[in-house]
Amino acid sequence: MDAAPYQSPISPGRSWYEDSVPDRPRYPALDGSLEADVAVVGGGFTGLSAALHLAERGARVCVLEAARFGDGASGRNGGQLGTGHRLWPEELEAAFGLERARALFALAEDAKSHLMDLMATHAIEADYRPGQISLAHRRRFHEPFRRHADMMRERFGYTSIRFLEAEDTFERTGSRTYRASLLDTGTGHIHPMKLLVGTARAAARAGALLFEGTPARRIGRRDGRVEIETARGTVRADRLLLATNAHGGRLERRNAAHVMPIRSFIAATAPLAEPHRVLPGDEAADDSRFVVRYFRKSADHRLLFGGREAYGSSTGDIAGAIRRQIADVYPHLADVAITHAWGGSVAVTTTRMPYVDTPEPGITAIGGYSGHGVMLSHFSGRLYAERVLGNRDRLAELESLRVPAFPGGDRLRAPLLFLAMTWFALRDRL
Ligand SMILES: Cc1cc2nc3c(=O)[nH]c(=O)nc-3n(C[C@H](O)[C@H](O)[C@H](O)COP(=O)(O)OP(=O)(O)OC[C@H]3O[C@@H](n4cnc5c(N)ncnc54)[C@H](O)[C@@H]3O)c2cc1C
Repeated sequence: MDAAPYQSPISPGRSWYEDSVPDRPRYPALDGSLEADVAVVGGGFTGLSAALHLAERGARVCVLEAARFGDGASGRNGGQLGTGHRLWPEELEAAFGLERARALFALAEDAKSHLMDLMATHAIEADYRPGQISLAHRRRFHEPFRRHADMMRERFGYTSIRFLEAEDTFERTGSRTYRASLLDTGTGHIHPMKLLVGTARAAARAGALLFEGTPARRIGRRDGRVEIETARGTVRADRLLLATNAHGGRLERRNAAHVMPIRSFIAATAPLAEPHRVLPGDEAADDSRFVVRYFRKSADHRLLFGGREAYGSSTGDIAGAIRRQIADVYPHLADVAITHAWGGSVAVTTTRMPYVDTPEPGITAIGGYSGHGVMLSHFSGRLYAERVLGNRDRLAELESLRVPAFPGGDRLRAPLLFLAMTWFALRDRL
């Protein structure tokens, strides 16, 4: 008899990505004690990319992952790379001035080329396809979208984006729901689990020690070094990278106070009978709702549609809720078969910019990409490696953002955010 399919213990539902990745090797649990230059807690893009870049330069590095690599957000997300940060450059300019906004934008552009180079160097085949379209779901976004395209060109030198009116938007999406859009040909989308598995494999090949099924239970100090306690062994290291993102619980309380988990859900349909009627140019799409809807087609012509969020503890009927959202955008798919429905935890911060912090000497926390982490998390891992190796410190650019903690810290952030998010989600519907 076949064993039941694996189900992540930290995220609901089995994803289509898990069923379409050709091979997902298992790694052992830590059994015994270990000395390292750098210990990484959390095996998503941030942690594995840091481990890869450190190991490539000869550092002794280990990664402790509580579940399996890819069970967190990195293996289960929408796969959209995007451009820039979660905040648009004009918002960054308003907050920090033009010079810093340009520096932050340049960093995100470097993150894009880093990811392309990394996939090429390590022969990671992750179904990359170009194109991203951002959709205005209300008339009031029409002018801000148009201005955004102009501003990107004129103030940030980014020429791969253009504004589309409603009719062109329909041509590109096959949906009449949207009023206007921004087409960005300078970015694209990937199969996140393939990227994750490829990154882990490259890190292991470079000499990083990778452990799954190994939750870090406690962080302590001995003789100036960091000690990470697990069920069956202790790691002693000169430095620790906390790359737990939305899944860190209270392992490190300062991290917990700055990063809030919000669950987001995706469904995969059966391969579409008429794939040309949905996103004929194969771009990835996201819309202007506060509770963003994001969708694209897979390489085998399924619609992967994400949207519904949950701030409380229950997940409800994921497939049913997403099917209603699909029908809203593509009425002809109201009865489409849904083969997979799953969720994951997005880590958001108060400012929607990444959280980089040094809670204690030798300990760095990185996360909170606020739904924009596919390329930034990978790149942040590399920036951390650069900092440790003493080459450059571009991570300082992100650390200097000094993202504030949630009001009420790690204890009250959830109920307060629940109220705020429910209000914004309601506004989307009105
Ligand atoms: C449904 C969904 C859709 C998304 N869509 C997009 C998108 O389209 N585009 C985009 O840019 N971003 C998207 N994101 C966000 C993106 O996936 C994340 O920003 C990114 O993957 C974060 O990577 P990470 O390595 O920091 O965290 P994760 O991948 O979450 O990894 C953290 C890991 O830490 C481990 N961990 C936690 N505590 C411990 C412990 N005590 N001991 C050991 N291990 C521990 C967890 O098990 C987990 O595997 C989405 C996220 C979700 C959930």
